[in-house]
Amino acid sequence: MADVECRMERRNRPGTKTIEYYCWPEELFEEMDSTLAVQQYIQQLIRKDFTAIDEILKAPDTQDEGVWKYEHLRQFCMELNGIAVKLQNECHPESCTQMTATDQWIFLCAAHKTPKECPAIDYTRHTLDGAACLLNSNKYFPSRISIKESSVAKLGSVCRRVYRIFSHAYFHHRNLFDEFENETFLCRRFTEFVTKYNLMSKEILIVPIFDEVDTSGFVGHVAESEA
Ligand SMILES: [Zn+2]
Ligand SMILES: [Zn+2]
Repeated sequence: MADVECRMERRNRPGTKTIEYYCWPEELFEEMDSTLAVQQYIQQLIRKDFTAIDEILKAPDTQDEGVWKYEHLRQFCMELNGIAVKLQNECHPESCTQMTATDQWIFLCAAHKTPKECPAIDYTRHTLDGAACLLNSNKYFPSRISIKESSVAKLGSVCRRVYRIFSHAYFHHRNLFDEFENETFLCRRFTEFVTKYNLMSKEILIVPIFDEVDTSGFVGHVAESEA
């Protein structure tokens, strides 16, 4: 039996119990020899500790930066479907008639020939569908090994559009947002990601996700208080 290769299969087969999901040993990035290695590596880091944002966003030394950004954005879009599912229970077209965050912004849905004022939940679905279409498009992203600069340049606008899902949830469905954020740290990771790679400008990152963390223990001015 010595010549039988003992391979640890990394698959969740039909019938796998929840407790055994993803239950396989970690693998070194250098040893991942598949075209999906980067995605596999990112997902492994997230499963290991979803709160370790710096670790998750730290690219391996030899990693192509365009691919790294692309794979992270794919992962964000996949995980954002989780908040979309939660939103379906309480974000209705009758109550959230437009995609808004603060009063300052009404976001138009870019999924249509002419950008449209879709209700927030439709905006969410249309935008995630649109992002998935673009990121899977053969025209712009035919390979997951190397990506043209002109295609990498498209990632910023995807980031800007999907970020509005966070901001809507934060300003209009705060409990839902907090619950999701506690389970995933997704908005924190996303904010750190777009800042690190200059994919969005600071002024439009309106969810004060790090303020709350940063000011803990800081005894400064207590301006806001509610009776
Ligand atoms: Zn809503
Ligand atoms: Zn739409």
